[in-house]
Amino acid sequence: MTDTSAHKPDFAALRNQFPILSREVNGKPLVYLDSAASSQKPQLVLDAVHAAYAETYSNVHRGLHFLSEASTDAYEAVRGKVANLLGAPSHDEVIFTSGATMSLNLIAQCHGPLVVGEGDEILITVAEHHANIVPWQMLAQRVGAKVVAAPVGKDGSFDIELFKTYINSRTKLIALPHVSNVLGTVFPITELSEIARNAGASFVVDGCQGCIHMPVDMAALGCDFYVFSGHKLYGPSGIGVLWGRAELLAEMPPFMGGGDMIDVVEIERSTYAAPPHRFEAGTPPIVEVIGLGAAIDFVQSIGMDHIYQHEAALIAYGHERLADVKGLNFIGEADGKSGVISFTLDAAHPHDISTLIDQDGVAIRAGHHCAQPLMTFFDVSSTARASIGLYSQESDFDVLATSLEKVNRIFG
Ligand code: PLP
Repeated sequence: MTDTSAHKPDFAALRNQFPILSREVNGKPLVYLDSAASSQKPQLVLDAVHAAYAETYSNVHRGLHFLSEASTDAYEAVRGKVANLLGAPSHDEVIFTSGATMSLNLIAQCHGPLVVGEGDEILITVAEHHANIVPWQMLAQRVGAKVVAAPVGKDGSFDIELFKTYINSRTKLIALPHVSNVLGTVFPITELSEIARNAGASFVVDGCQGCIHMPVDMAALGCDFYVFSGHKLYGPSGIGVLWGRAELLAEMPPFMGGGDMIDVVEIERSTYAAPPHRFEAGTPPIVEVIGLGAAIDFVQSIGMDHIYQHEAALIAYGHERLADVKGLNFIGEADGKSGVISFTLDAAHPHDISTLIDQDGVAIRAGHHCAQPLMTFFDVSSTARASIGLYSQESDFDVLATSLEKVNRIFG
């Protein structure tokens, strides 16, 4: 939550801190519009990862030598940075996982059976990433519950009144995205938290596309769990975060058994460590965590509010620019949308679009975006998706639009 940046940052200069963005692809300057899948990394993160291996590397916890203590300190310090980014009351509420997918599975397996039983319902929407669908289906199968999905509007907007009609006395857990990875729709988490609380349901927020684009504050959002992946926040891959309310984490059984998550181990039985270590069995992703810490320092030095404003203006520009492309149909036009622009083109299949514009150095994603139910809902097999990061610029959309016109000429 800390915003150390008093003045408007120079985003063009910040872009220069991402080495990969100056490379060419297919003989053309790279236009990277695939940040929703994974963002590029600033030099500062690359340096932090290098230094962690070159200068302080050792396994964490229990070591009594200099390097182990240095590594442990660096690793544990990142819990505080994450808590600060999320506005979480305590660093002990921050659990490191391998990614958002693991975080959601952990919640489904360890918290799910405590609140969802036979005949109960788990409420999601049709706009979920598979990572926020499949773990709930697995939970439902395990306990004899049912997954129910509320629709979104045809323009991708979220209708909270309609959503409420899907809640009933059997609804025990609600799991929603902060921001849809296909539609860009921003879900009203604060209002939804109150609705979930009144319904007596746990509320899980898939923040993968949320906290990377805007300031967040767990106290204000009011949810019970919030998850995200480090690789979408300019950090390394292989590191994710699960934030959960202390009282809920305290009552959850371990996820995996092994070293580091125990208190006392005997042959017949073991007792477990308190959260967060209860949920971090085995050697954790030490360097990835340290890299995530550097990424958090980076975005906080810019200010999440500045990043939000910069990206909101870019998304508006992108829409305006792409609206001029003949035969282009937007999938997701909700007010205040964030981060992504999904579309189809009358003339060509999304896969052909992506392959062709790659020749111009333009990287977008084409496919179902791990959201097959949403594709079914919109009656398409796939979409093309351009997505941005803080380093994105208006000219990225200019090049994309020109390249799409070329696709139109080839297929037209
Ligand atoms: N949820 C959303 C909304 C996403 O966009 C993604 C990744 O694209 C995920 C979950 C899964 O993230 P990961 O693959 O890093 O675990």
